[in-house]
Amino acid sequence: MLNHHRFTDYDPEIEKKVEQLLSQMTLPEKVMQMVQVCPESMAQDDLEKQVRQGVGSILNYYSPAGMNRLQKIALTESRLKIPLILGNDVIHGYRTIFPIPLAWSCSWNLELVQEAAHIAAEEARANGTHWTFAPMVDIARDARWGRIAEGAGEDVFLGEEMAKAQVRGFQSPLRNGRSLVSCPKHYVGYGAAEDGRDYNTTDMSERTLRDVYLPPFKAAFAEGAGTVMSAFNDIGGVPASANSFTLRQVMRDEWHCSSMVVSDWNSVGELIPHGFAADLKEAAKRAVLAGVDMDMMSGAYANHLAELVEEGSVPESILDEAVRRILRLKFQLGLFAEPYVDASEGAREILKPEYLETALALATQSMVLLKNEDRLLPLASDMGKIALIGPLADDHHEILGCWHRIGKDEDTESVLEGLRQVLPDTDIQHVPGCDLTGEMEPDFETAVSAAITADVTVMVLGEGELMSGEAHSRAYLDLPGRQQELLEAVVATGKPVVVVLMSGRPLAVPWLAENVPAILQAWHGGLRTGRAVADLLVGNANPGGKLTTSWPRSVGQVPIYYSHKNTGRPPEGRGTIQFNMQHRTLYVDADHTPLFPFGYGLSYADYSYSDLEVVTPTITADETLIVTAVVSNTSDVAGTEIVQLYVRDLAGEVTRPVKELKGFERVTLQPGESTTVRFEIAAARLGFHGLDNKYKVEPGAFQVWVGPHALAGLEGSFEIQ
Ligand code: BGC
Repeated sequence: MLNHHRFTDYDPEIEKKVEQLLSQMTLPEKVMQMVQVCPESMAQDDLEKQVRQGVGSILNYYSPAGMNRLQKIALTESRLKIPLILGNDVIHGYRTIFPIPLAWSCSWNLELVQEAAHIAAEEARANGTHWTFAPMVDIARDARWGRIAEGAGEDVFLGEEMAKAQVRGFQSPLRNGRSLVSCPKHYVGYGAAEDGRDYNTTDMSERTLRDVYLPPFKAAFAEGAGTVMSAFNDIGGVPASANSFTLRQVMRDEWHCSSMVVSDWNSVGELIPHGFAADLKEAAKRAVLAGVDMDMMSGAYANHLAELVEEGSVPESILDEAVRRILRLKFQLGLFAEPYVDASEGAREILKPEYLETALALATQSMVLLKNEDRLLPLASDMGKIALIGPLADDHHEILGCWHRIGKDEDTESVLEGLRQVLPDTDIQHVPGCDLTGEMEPDFETAVSAAITADVTVMVLGEGELMSGEAHSRAYLDLPGRQQELLEAVVATGKPVVVVLMSGRPLAVPWLAENVPAILQAWHGGLRTGRAVADLLVGNANPGGKLTTSWPRSVGQVPIYYSHKNTGRPPEGRGTIQFNMQHRTLYVDADHTPLFPFGYGLSYADYSYSDLEVVTPTITADETLIVTAVVSNTSDVAGTEIVQLYVRDLAGEVTRPVKELKGFERVTLQPGESTTVRFEIAAARLGFHGLDNKYKVEPGAFQVWVGPHALAGLEGSFEIQ
């Protein structure tokens, strides 16, 4: 693939054009460039009026013909004829819907995720979208938070790699020399919402902000992401959409990042309920001074910016900077040269057979085999009768996931259809048993009798797409509705049961984990979900996905993540004897360990790890750590193992996590095959933000592990001098 487009690079020719145009703009025209509006949320007359006044951008609009009409007004009826830029949420696919991002991160397959983002960009751009509000790079450690579905999970290192892969994919060269610009979001700290409720307050140390939440954004900018979205949340008293520390000091002064900042939907207006601005005028002032270049949907800039400049409260030079960034993007995207879209071309460019193949590959690799007692899976191909039970067994909608936007049910394959494709001679009896929410009267009886007469029962259970995503947080993490009762009734038959779980988040399902012999986590796997599940269940494909979030046993454990601090009284140690008791970081009424750890996932193959060698036991801060280990496939089926490397910095100027992922490799091994996996990790990536909140790589002793997940592996040590 050709190099992707780096929107952060300067082109002197473009700069000249930007300056030339800017010099002709009146104050109201500059203000209007900084405004983004949504056709669905306003009257057509008002929309067209704003386009004539030179509004900068349109969002959430999926009509190529409608967009051409608006573009024509901009190009023929506005004074300066500046084209509109159209931004849409193309998060996990445009029309070819891929697995939700939390799912696809479980593939740990950066090339395939990049390819999916590239396909989404091709489809979107051919249909008139210039700008995607993706990737979502918020680190998320609270399974209650619905938006955990949209990101790459709990880990910083994996989050950085997934952010970069998506930026490369979205900004890759497209057909006919076109390109699309990406927008990492939500800047920043949004995933740390208190109690997992969406939009809630965050309050963390500057060190945690810098060590955990900022790095995926920095990585996306380093890859050339052209825009960024400022978040809804309050960060320690200063809302993210008026936060000059994160938007100016960190982004502009420290990172020298030139990317354009768009607010989130009405996040400038929401400075009022935050209690950070008395009215919309003050909101506009605080946001623009802090560095928000474009106002999505609040009306604050459109109504008050000109007045703020005229009365001297906002320097016009700040508007000039913002407008430069917006115009630069429009030139970089070629919108002046090619403002319109050919709607018939757009219709041809979607759902191509090769796109559907990639969607199948990514869905298959995203799914995680959580349990497989006595090798119940894969199912034998000569199975006489399967009972297929559960509200999601023949679902064509929920599997599309929370950001499917224009994805269509009719494009999907259900699990029932997938199984019929791969097992044409098997009798499959489908019984829903209950609905997802518990509103309808369940029918456990038919489900139980189907299970009794079948050789094996496959249950497809979990969450609907609207149980995760924006504004869809949960206080309970169990199976919703009456599904737990259905599950228990079917398991009570004593017949073998396989559960295919679908969800937009980790679930707390200890009963399921304890009592069901085989569990496949399928997430919301996009339009090829059904075939992917079927291929995995019958062994046409071997499961290889691994979790990118720790799974809790109960809501009480949340937030749970592997990269926690050790504390002074760690759970594993003896603790401290006080009042003749061991005092440790534990619960008195529950286990402290996860139900399934970060990095975990099974395969139909078996792997063994041996011969860990720390090739560089001593390195300096500018050298590279080299560690090798032998990984063997000790089974008689081929498979792909995701080999992970973790480190621990034993003593620091500030306390350090008990483990941090610093490398991973996807290794495909034939039956009986062994390979030496070699990790080369720049010591520069082993640092942290110290007492002064500056990044440093500190001398000292480290542990290192190479293994199959965060809680297992061969152990070695090294030292940074
Ligand atoms: C969401 C963003 C999204 C935007 C535009 C907001 O409510 O937080 O993620 O990009 O709407 O649809």
